[in-house]
Amino acid sequence: MTSTSESPASLGRNLIEGRWQAAASGETIACFNPSSGSQIGSAPASSAADVDRAVSAARRSFESGAWTARAPNWRAQILQKVAALIDQQADEIAQLETRDNGMPITLARALVATGAETFRYFSGWCTKIRGETVQISAPGDFHAYTLREPAGVAALITPWNVPFTMACNKIATALTAGCSAILKPAEETPLSALMLGDILMQAGVPEGVINIVCGRGNVAGAALAAHPDVDKISFTGSTDVGRKIVVAAAGNLKRVSLELGGKSPVLVFPDADLDQAAAGIARGIFSNSGQACIAGSRIFVHQKIHDELAARLAVIARQMKVGDGFEAGVNLGPLISQRQLDRVSGLVAEGVRDGSQVIVGGNRPDRPGYFFEPTILTAPRPGARILREEIFGPVANLIPFTDIDDVVRQANDTQYGLAAAIWTRDIGIAHRLARRVKAGNIWLNCQLVVDRSMAFGGYKQSGWGRENGLEGLEAFLQTKSVYAAL
Ligand code: NAD
Repeated sequence: MTSTSESPASLGRNLIEGRWQAAASGETIACFNPSSGSQIGSAPASSAADVDRAVSAARRSFESGAWTARAPNWRAQILQKVAALIDQQADEIAQLETRDNGMPITLARALVATGAETFRYFSGWCTKIRGETVQISAPGDFHAYTLREPAGVAALITPWNVPFTMACNKIATALTAGCSAILKPAEETPLSALMLGDILMQAGVPEGVINIVCGRGNVAGAALAAHPDVDKISFTGSTDVGRKIVVAAAGNLKRVSLELGGKSPVLVFPDADLDQAAAGIARGIFSNSGQACIAGSRIFVHQKIHDELAARLAVIARQMKVGDGFEAGVNLGPLISQRQLDRVSGLVAEGVRDGSQVIVGGNRPDRPGYFFEPTILTAPRPGARILREEIFGPVANLIPFTDIDDVVRQANDTQYGLAAAIWTRDIGIAHRLARRVKAGNIWLNCQLVVDRSMAFGGYKQSGWGRENGLEGLEAFLQTKSVYAAL
């Protein structure tokens, strides 16, 4: 696959079998800059027919062995080329991401760099996928061994909050395992994934191995999830849609991995370094305007330091510059859409009706775009909706506690289990609580640290399976046992 002169125009078209194509229906979905609400482009509104073409292309490429049967070190080199091309085009990608998603350009640049790093990390695994020889006890003389083989044709479905990073993660892992794949980016933010498609072509990924089909979740996403020729789904998004994916996958019993929502607890003890804790907690909830599955939105703080932490968080929140991601010094961009803004402001209003008081924020700034102030609320009545539902906005509740067993119970009192943070200088408490809190990622005296060499995923209804690291790669592999009679 090589880059073509039509590549720049490819933004706004699907990538199927190495060619940029409009949706069969010709229909498109407009893309908006959430900082202004103005249209910045469009992407195909793909239907089941487009999905079918992409799946057929992926299947043909998979069965041809054009990627999967090539030498692992050749595949590693291609992934490294992808990383180098991302680095070369980093600024252009970051600018597109900020226009499409709204995030501050500094964050977009950092996330694009992590995308390149993900391809570099996984390139190292290409040459290290191995089975094992096994001494078996069956009567007779056998040479028995296992082969690690790719899962086949994979559907990759991603959300809008960190679009480029997520596309890199899933594509790099699928390619490393030797799968062919179809990526369906979120309809709100499809553009940077199309740039990645162009880069994959430039790097020499064979045609049909990675296909990108844009469109609405309930049309293109649903068709992909139900498609009988897709072997595996890797989905990141809301828990509600995760359930639909599981149902749709049941038709041909696809293998499913799910990275879903969160309502992550943060536990702050009186001996914590409050300067560090306040800065980390603020970052943990306000980063990307709280549109992070791992956002720490339930802050349990020991009664003794409740008011002190509240005051410090208020100072940090007031100092934050809310605005267009391209404005100098902005560290809080808009929410993704009017719908998300309505949801966040609705949940805050309901939280106040349920007894919360506003410590800081709580309003929409008076400007165009979908902005919401960084907001900290006191505790509402127990069981209030704002404490149970994922907000996906820059909003957290501060909840006082006095008893350690009680706070562990409250931290675990949620359907989610994606992440949790514990701030204390007492290493005994820290490590004991790391065991007792039911979440897939635990941060001790830090927040939002995610590294691709560590498994990432959720307990309970935050997901199935893990991404990143060897476990993430294994989700795209299957094991074949071979018995050879000697
Ligand atoms: P969403 O579930 O609405 O959409 C995610 C993707 O699924 C989109 O591409 C969408 O088009 C598609 N989709 C929607 N309906 C579908 C259907 N019926 N069949 C197949 N695909 C369908 O999520 P969102 O609003 O885009 O993103 C926010 C959510 O993502 C939050 O809940 C957040 O916690 C979660 N998230 C999780 C992680 C994680 O790693 N655990 C990371 C980021 C975001």
